[in-house]
Amino acid sequence: MKGYMLIGGERIFKDKEIEILFPYDNSVVGTIPDGDEEDARRAVDAAIKGFERMKELTAYDRYSILSKAARILSNRSYEIAELLTKEVGKTIKESMGEVGRAVNTLTLSAEEAKRIAGEEVNFDAAPGIRGKVGFYRRVPLGVIGCITPFNFPLNLTCHKVGPALAAGNSVVIKPSENTSLVTIKLAEILIEAGFPPEAVNVITGYGEKVGDALVRDERVRMITFTGSVETGKIIMSRGGLKKYAMELGSNAGVYVDKDQSVRLDFVSEKICRGGFALAGQVCISVQRVFVHDYLFDDFINRAVEFTKTLKIGNPLEETTDMGSVIDVQAADRIMEWIEEAVSAGAKIVCGGKRLSDTVIEPTIVINVPEDVRLFTGEVFGPVIVVNRVKSVDEAIEKVNLSRYGLQAGIFTNDLRAAFKFSKEVEAGGIMVNEIPTFRVDQMPYGGVKESGIGREGPLFAIEEMTEIKTICFDINF
Ligand code: NAP
Repeated sequence: MKGYMLIGGERIFKDKEIEILFPYDNSVVGTIPDGDEEDARRAVDAAIKGFERMKELTAYDRYSILSKAARILSNRSYEIAELLTKEVGKTIKESMGEVGRAVNTLTLSAEEAKRIAGEEVNFDAAPGIRGKVGFYRRVPLGVIGCITPFNFPLNLTCHKVGPALAAGNSVVIKPSENTSLVTIKLAEILIEAGFPPEAVNVITGYGEKVGDALVRDERVRMITFTGSVETGKIIMSRGGLKKYAMELGSNAGVYVDKDQSVRLDFVSEKICRGGFALAGQVCISVQRVFVHDYLFDDFINRAVEFTKTLKIGNPLEETTDMGSVIDVQAADRIMEWIEEAVSAGAKIVCGGKRLSDTVIEPTIVINVPEDVRLFTGEVFGPVIVVNRVKSVDEAIEKVNLSRYGLQAGIFTNDLRAAFKFSKEVEAGGIMVNEIPTFRVDQMPYGGVKESGIGREGPLFAIEEMTEIKTICFDINF
């Protein structure tokens, strides 16, 4: 597919292009224009006009258009899923799952469009005030810049553009340069469904060039970003006075309590699935597992047994469970982190080998020192670390030993342990008897510490993407 930018409804091609590769075998999937500062400026010009046109739409119009977009996307599920697999390297099963979630996210956004409202303000509750009545309402911000990562290029874009458009904003989307084609298709679907073409713009190219120009544009009222902590910090330092929503990285921890013997098969399988889904490239992938000493060996045996059943290979085949990581550089880094941990005394009990440039075996590493990058960093690859602990208190301490705090999980039958864990672990979401990788699209989702600022989930994103306007009448005038 020859990709293009979408600016004011016009398809923009450029001589200078970037190749998009199928990560599994590096074959060429398509190209996108190498956009620059001028393209970002033109996209914001268009989005300013788009914002004016959005004002013509009622809440019901926005609901109807988003609902129609969800239907079109659903009808084109397989075609979009196949493109997702080719751009991201995730399995076709995972891609079909992402399309289904994206349909749901657009539908949830449509529903929220009908519920955006303010409430009455009791002005005369202040001393000496009489005859004043009024209310506040939520109004859209204007142009919102949406910058998205490579791993869920469809659903995470829907989490930004769905609420933004539901609230009456216009958008300029800058997708990851690895996975832009699917975003272009989504934008076209939104326009086909009825949004003004100027309200949905896509610019493509490198983050530090076209993305930076979008971030620095003072007419952009908000940047909603999903990606790494490092990029998030750069964006906030470059963007100046505007709103920010930051959905950043993590190295999620989960604890398996001593009372889990009877369902250890179920728990170990769930944890491994949470670590190896999308080859570990999920912001809430299970990365650090803490298992009570009492059942540590049993847990490892079962986790290894299950992991060996996973079918690794071409993600386009229906039976494949795990595909490749995004590129050679990512695979190099992941292998380096595994080697560093092993040199420091950790032990690989499953996997550990690189099967090709971009395919790494699902890997379980035990007894990992707490100062190596496999423990402190975000591995973003098919690797889980499993260490022993002796109590829930120790598990809480270890889970919190992280600069991140997106989600965490605990498996226990002990109500007191569950409450203590949910109270004391520093994370945006705590999953009890569930892995930290659990997310449904309507829930408030986001991190603490370096995992981010703000919450997604259409209802919550709409709050971030609107501002409050207070209206006061003097009825004695
Ligand atoms: P990334 O390298 O930070 O890139 C994210 C986006 O930012 C890409 O579109 C990138 O463009 C762009 N970008 C890079 N430098 C920029 C700059 N100076 N100004 C403006 N934009 C810039 O992240 P990634 O590797 O794509 O994604 C993986 C990360 O995303 C992981 O850390 C993961 O945890 C995080 N993530 C978080 C969540 C969440 O909800 N919390 C969900 C998914 C992923 P280019 O690709 O063109 O460089």
